[in-house]
Amino acid sequence: MILITGGAGYIGSHVVKQLLEKNEDLIVLDNLSTGFQKTIDTLQNIKKFCFINLDLKEIHKVEELFKKYKINTVIHFAAFSQVGESIQNPIKYYMNNTVNTINLVRLASSHGVNKFIFSSTAAVYGEPKFKLGKNLIDEDFRTNPINPYGMSKLMSEKVIKDEAKVNCKFKYVIFRYFNVAGADIYFDDNNIQPRIGECHSPETHLIPLILKTALNKRENIAIFGDDYNTPDGTCIRDYIHVDDLADIHIKGIDYIEYNDSDTFNCGYGHGYSVKEIINSVKTLTQKNFKVLNDKRREGDPSVLVSDNNKIISKMNWKAKYDDLNIIINSAYAWEKSI
Ligand code: UDP
Repeated sequence: MILITGGAGYIGSHVVKQLLEKNEDLIVLDNLSTGFQKTIDTLQNIKKFCFINLDLKEIHKVEELFKKYKINTVIHFAAFSQVGESIQNPIKYYMNNTVNTINLVRLASSHGVNKFIFSSTAAVYGEPKFKLGKNLIDEDFRTNPINPYGMSKLMSEKVIKDEAKVNCKFKYVIFRYFNVAGADIYFDDNNIQPRIGECHSPETHLIPLILKTALNKRENIAIFGDDYNTPDGTCIRDYIHVDDLADIHIKGIDYIEYNDSDTFNCGYGHGYSVKEIINSVKTLTQKNFKVLNDKRREGDPSVLVSDNNKIISKMNWKAKYDDLNIIINSAYAWEKSI
C-alpha cells in the first residue's frame, strides 16, 4: 500500500493519476489548503481510491493510518511552496514543511515503511556560484538555500537521511525539482484535453501567468528583471513537464527496491529565458498581449539549470515531453478549461 501526502496538489495529483493507471493501491491525504476537491473527484473517475482530508499536523490521526493499513511506501508532497510567502512567514513553512516531515518520517520509519520518496527542490542550491566552465547544477553542488522555503526542504532532507542511517530498512529517494510546468497529457478526439493541471492561489508561476494574460484573464505579464547576466538579460530556468516528473516518482519506487537511497535532480538539463517563454506563448497561441518590464524579484537566481546525468544514468530515465511546445500547449489547453 502506498501513502501519498499532498495528492490533491499539482505534482502530487499527476503522480496519483499515474499510480491509478498502474492499478496501485493508494491512500491519498490532503488537507485541501492548496489542493482541490475537484482534482480528487477527477482522479476518482479514473479509478476509485481512498482519499482522506487530513492535515499532517494531526499526528495521532496519521498514526492511526499507519496502524490500520500495511503501508510500505510513502510519497510525501504535502508542503507550502511559495518562496515570497516563506520569507514573510518563515514559521508557517518550517512548521508545515519541516516539522510535519519530521513527524511523518518518525511514523513511517517506526511502522515498517521501507520506501520514502520525498519532494524536494532546486531551491536548496540557492544562488549558484559556478566554477569556471561549469553552468549546470549537479547533486553534489553545494547547498545554500537563500529563503525559508528552500531551507525547510533542505532540513527535511537531512532528517530523512539521518533516519536512514540508523534504520537500514528505511530507504529514501529525494527528488530535487527544477521548474515544473505543463498539464496532464490526455487526448479527447485527438485534441489535448488535460483532466488535471496547475492551479495556485495566488498564481505566481511564469507559464500559467503568461497563459492567463494570453486568455485575457490578466491585463499584462511583467518581466521581473531584464538586466541579468544572460544572453537576453532575463532569467533562465529548466522547465520539466509535470507528467515526466510524475513518471520519475513511479520509477523511484522500483529504484529503491534494488538500490541504495539517493538524491536526484529532476530537469531536462537545458533552459529557457523568460523572454523566450513569452515569445513561444505568443507564437503557439497566436495571441498578442502586453509585456511590461518590472524590477528584479527578490531571491531569483539568474540561471537555474540541472545537470541531469545522474538520473539518466542511474535510474535509466528518459524524458518523454522535453519539448517547450508540448509544455505550453498542454498548459494552455488546461488554462482554457478552468
Ligand atoms: N517571472 C517573471 N514574471 C512573473 C513570474 C515569474 O518574470 O510574473 C520570472 C521569475 O523571475 C523567474 C522565472 O520567471 O525568473 C520563473 O519564475 P517562477 O515563479 O515560475 O518559478 P521559480 O523559478 O521562482 O521557481
